[in-house]
Amino acid sequence: RTAWADPVVVDGRSVHVSASTGVALARPGVPVAGSDLLREADIAMYRAKERRLGGFEIFDDDMRGAIGERLAMASALRRAISERLLTLDYQPIIDLRTGRICAAEALSRWDQPGSGPVAPDAFIPVAEDTGLIVPLGAWALREACAHAATWQRYGEIDVRVNVSPRQLYRPEYPDEVLASLAQVGLPPRRLGLEITEHVLVGEAAGPREALARLSSLGVSLLLDDFGTGYSALGYLHRFPYLESLKIDRSFIGRLPAPGDAAIITAVIAIGHAFGMAVVAEGVADRDQLDWLRDSNCDLAQGYVIGRPMPAAALLELLRRQADA
Ligand code: C2E
Ligand code: CA
Ligand code: CA
Repeated sequence: RTAWADPVVVDGRSVHVSASTGVALARPGVPVAGSDLLREADIAMYRAKERRLGGFEIFDDDMRGAIGERLAMASALRRAISERLLTLDYQPIIDLRTGRICAAEALSRWDQPGSGPVAPDAFIPVAEDTGLIVPLGAWALREACAHAATWQRYGEIDVRVNVSPRQLYRPEYPDEVLASLAQVGLPPRRLGLEITEHVLVGEAAGPREALARLSSLGVSLLLDDFGTGYSALGYLHRFPYLESLKIDRSFIGRLPAPGDAAIITAVIAIGHAFGMAVVAEGVADRDQLDWLRDSNCDLAQGYVIGRPMPAAALLELLRRQADA
């Protein structure tokens, strides 16, 4: 690590490199395969990377336990998907100008019989690592389209579905989206796919081609969690098909802190300059809602409007809204 601290000269320029290090130790007297030791060091290295670029971690019993838990979760999740034990909740999204629900986001829920609900923040990453996100995502899309088809009698209500990069790498993905829509007769413009910027800045062109095709078919594309990743603003003009920016809930949650207010104001201006609608998520109280409306934010989603709820509860809300 001391050696890496010195710059390397490449073509006459001095370049700094950093390296994250994982360490694994054999126990005295316990024989261990070299490949196992390397795998453990690899896992420790990824942990080091997560914590702080350029740091180091030593493989320990905590990491061993975490791997066991992840494997157990992956096999339980595989079963839950094939036995159709997952459900979708829907969180309403309002148009800030009218105050009316105009869309809802589908959020996957997993209630494990015997041990209770598992948070999406716990099982979605496992699904992504293991590839289970492909069948999970396909199921969520079909289910969400079917529910959204029933909303249309109460007005033009959009459904938003989260899409993970791994799904977009599959060339057949756009056709699967079309099939899910056609099966229930939902017009493509009623569907919005929420993507993260990793898809846009990644090296591979496949996902971007899939997005361009989906957009040409009329499906809306939204950039989720805006402000948390690279947010390299220069890439926005290369993706004219993005319909909305969703400001990450961490910024909204700190409102009315002046720094966050400034960021949100700027994001709204950037979004509008690119012809995009701006959505605020994680809106937790009335003051935040009023501030966002006064700041020309277009749409809002959060606990103050409604928590994620079962499909039947959302349908009831829509029915009452249509009657009012
Ligand atoms: P997300 O896409 O950012 O979804 C919004 C999250 O914010 C949801 O968490 C929602 O319950 C939460 N939320 C909404 N309003 C508020 C609020 O006012 N305050 C606070 N503190 N939180 C609020 P949830 O349901 O736990 O989902 C977590 C993440 O899991 C989602 O974040 C999304 O990235 C992922 N996810 C969920 N379902 C799916 C899915 O079907 N496919 C994929 N690929 N990802 C999913
Ligand atoms: Ca989302
Ligand atoms: Ca989000």
